[in-house]
Amino acid sequence: MNLNPSRGDLIRSQNYVSGRWLDAHDGATFEVCNPADLSRITAVPDSGARDAEAAIEAAQAAFAGWRATPAKARGQLLKRWHALILANQEDLGRLVSLEQGKPLAEGQGEVLYAASYVEWFAEEASRIEGDLIAPAVPGRRMMTVREPVGVVAVITPWNFPAAMIARKIAPALAAGCTLVAKPAEDTPLTSLALIRLAEEAGVPAGVINIVCASREQTPALVDVWLADARVRKISFTGSTPVGKHLARASADTLKKLSLELGGNAPFIVFDDADLDAAVDGLMVSKFRNGGQTCVCPNRIYVQDKVFDSFADKLVARVAALQVGPATDPKAQIGPMINARAVEKILHHIDDAVARGGRVLTGGQRVHPELGPNYVAPTVLADAGQDALLCHEETFGPVAPLFRFRSEEDVIRQANDTPFGLAGYFYSENVSRIWRVADALETGIVGINEGAVASEAAPFGGVKESGYGREGSKYGLDDYMHIKYLCQGNL
Ligand code: NAD
Repeated sequence: MNLNPSRGDLIRSQNYVSGRWLDAHDGATFEVCNPADLSRITAVPDSGARDAEAAIEAAQAAFAGWRATPAKARGQLLKRWHALILANQEDLGRLVSLEQGKPLAEGQGEVLYAASYVEWFAEEASRIEGDLIAPAVPGRRMMTVREPVGVVAVITPWNFPAAMIARKIAPALAAGCTLVAKPAEDTPLTSLALIRLAEEAGVPAGVINIVCASREQTPALVDVWLADARVRKISFTGSTPVGKHLARASADTLKKLSLELGGNAPFIVFDDADLDAAVDGLMVSKFRNGGQTCVCPNRIYVQDKVFDSFADKLVARVAALQVGPATDPKAQIGPMINARAVEKILHHIDDAVARGGRVLTGGQRVHPELGPNYVAPTVLADAGQDALLCHEETFGPVAPLFRFRSEEDVIRQANDTPFGLAGYFYSENVSRIWRVADALETGIVGINEGAVASEAAPFGGVKESGYGREGSKYGLDDYMHIKYLCQGNL
């Protein structure tokens, strides 16, 4: 099966700045490869400081006009973009699978998920409102209005190349902001294709600008945005170390920040849980996208009494998962994104085994004849709490099981991490449900549910998983500020 989009113009190999498709200023490029077999797909610009600067100039020049465009018209543009994404769902889904490796059904699903944010914020644009405040003293009128913050810099990861950028661009445009964007170096093509469709939807020149860069060149490019006071906000999804760097480097110009960072999600199975439902929930939340999702469970705590039966049921399901390239219609787990990711996953497995862990299924690379990036879906049991995979995100198809005795113990273990993005638990006891939901230190809690993300719900973390929320009625707040107007002498 061929993964190339049927519409040839959806494979772009240039930046988009000020309404024009352009090479990097110095003509440099880097290659984009298919993680399934490392074959070359195309090359895109390896942009530098001059390109970063040009993108800011364009976004700043377009800001006044876009901000003055009525919110309803901004929403209508987003609706046209939404319709075009849906009309090209199959091509975009192929592109996601081509450059990211996920099974085709997941690539198609991600496109719908991305589109759902565009539709949501198309509608939210019409609901930007202020307040009339009861005056504290006579003769005054006091009110608030909400204004777009200005030029936004958008930086995205590779694991959801359509959804991550869509859920930043859509609220930014709805709010009246213009933007400069840099997609992940492993997966720039889906983002460029989405921008091509935004161009087709009629987005005015300069409102969206996107520049690509290799991993080596990225700091030089992003440093220009960090230092420039015209960039008023950074919206970043990616790892915690890079998020902290962006926060530090934004301090001099005091930019607003939204940081969707790493997670280390606990998944707790109490002995009063419906075990089959818990296994179903874990399969969805852990193995979607090959375990390369920031909300996926990293530590699975199972209560003593049900540990063995839960492990048996889980191993049967995981051992049956089919690993293969997106071109194989039976594949449920694709290749990992790159060699760095594979090394980290194998290192976490070896470390867990060295600390007393047992491999119940998987535990090694598979299909070397296809390429070097395939890892067997793995279940581990009884590694010590000092294992690396208890403390760092594995970001792969590895489910480590830990036993626990009491609710009190497991809550302590679950919260014993600097991260706080998602947490999950399964229980049929209503009082326990409220207690545990209150006690988990995470921004998102799945209660008897493994698939929690929705455009209608706020997505984001606490602690070192970052701050800010994407989606939902709160999603526009990060792209706007509140201005207070006070009229006297009435
Ligand atoms: P990453 O932080 O290495 O890269 C993310 C983006 O930051 C990429 O575009 C990359 O080019 C850019 N970047 C890298 N170094 C930079 C620098 N010095 N200055 C500016 N930008 C820089 O992360 P990744 O490997 O692409 O993605 C995996 C990580 O992202 C995981 O830790 C995962 O948990 C996290 N993630 C979080 C969410 C979320 O919503 N919370 C979603 C997806 C991924």
